[in-house]
Amino acid sequence: MNRSLLTIRHLDADTIHEMIDLAASFRTAIMRGETLRPKDPKVIGLLFFESSTRTRVSFEQATSYLGYRFTNFSSSGSSMSKGETLKDTILTLRSERLDGVVMRHRASGAPFLAHQLFDGHVVNAGDGEHEHPTQALGDALTVLSHLKSIQGLNVAIVGDVLHSRVARSNAWLFHKLGADVRLIGPRTLMPTHGGLLPGRIFHDLEPGIEDADVVMCLRLQKERMQDGLMTSTKEYRKMYQVNQETLRWARPGALVMHPGPLNRGVELDDFAADGPQSMILQQVENGIYVRMAALHWIFAQPQAKKAAKATEPPAEKTSKKKSSAGAKA
Ligand code: ASP
Repeated sequence: MNRSLLTIRHLDADTIHEMIDLAASFRTAIMRGETLRPKDPKVIGLLFFESSTRTRVSFEQATSYLGYRFTNFSSSGSSMSKGETLKDTILTLRSERLDGVVMRHRASGAPFLAHQLFDGHVVNAGDGEHEHPTQALGDALTVLSHLKSIQGLNVAIVGDVLHSRVARSNAWLFHKLGADVRLIGPRTLMPTHGGLLPGRIFHDLEPGIEDADVVMCLRLQKERMQDGLMTSTKEYRKMYQVNQETLRWARPGALVMHPGPLNRGVELDDFAADGPQSMILQQVENGIYVRMAALHWIFAQPQAKKAAKATEPPAEKTSKKKSSAGAKA
């Protein structure tokens, strides 16, 4: 079976570092204006069954920078609107001679089906409430652009943990790389089986973000919420908003992150979103480089080594001990 990137949970720390290193190298290459010319360019299907701005565009950019081609697929306007199943759709796309697919779907696990039917070469671009691995890789690259190492950092993930695939992938990634992960949010928006996620659970913001080096805000995922999970947005804001005042509880200069799209004035205020500590736009840009790395990693298996060599970026290291993803995003 060929490689796919489906979760962070199933990756080991070395592989995570390998992908972040690769992404940092791609960033350097793009910054230098280098053009990558693969000998065996791939054609990637971008299958977004849920809306997306950042992830879709950055996969488009990533495939272009790699010298690959992409083709966009959207379920509306396809035979799915005539009742074709997901399975038959994937098999059809495979016969269209696509080399790989990037898939976002509201059903947790849908990219696993694609992985089986497509014989690998799948990137999970967010499946339901499960995982969003490239978001977490991009977030780690962003953190490593400012802080030497993830080992020993206090990482606070605040908000709607229950519905957030970003929270899941980030909790696993930062835990695997040695951070102290805290999950903060109301009881109704926290998974009951906290044990399924690494990290300590807090229901109050202050102790949760105390001394945090990184504060990640999550969007309230109203589209996945049953009525009544939150008393009111006003109360949520009062208890959990990351803002100029509440950020004082974190380490001075703590990095403020948000995967987007933002509910401005709810999860975070304008100071947190736009101020000097905000990493939000860097997260977006780094999303391109980690998506390049993910695609490259998938096709850089032994049988694809020759083709991959042509896109080999200059070496750059973000190893556990000493990280140098420090080049600016
Ligand atoms: N864009 C992220 C995702 O697709 C976060 C969000 O939608 O809140 O999961």
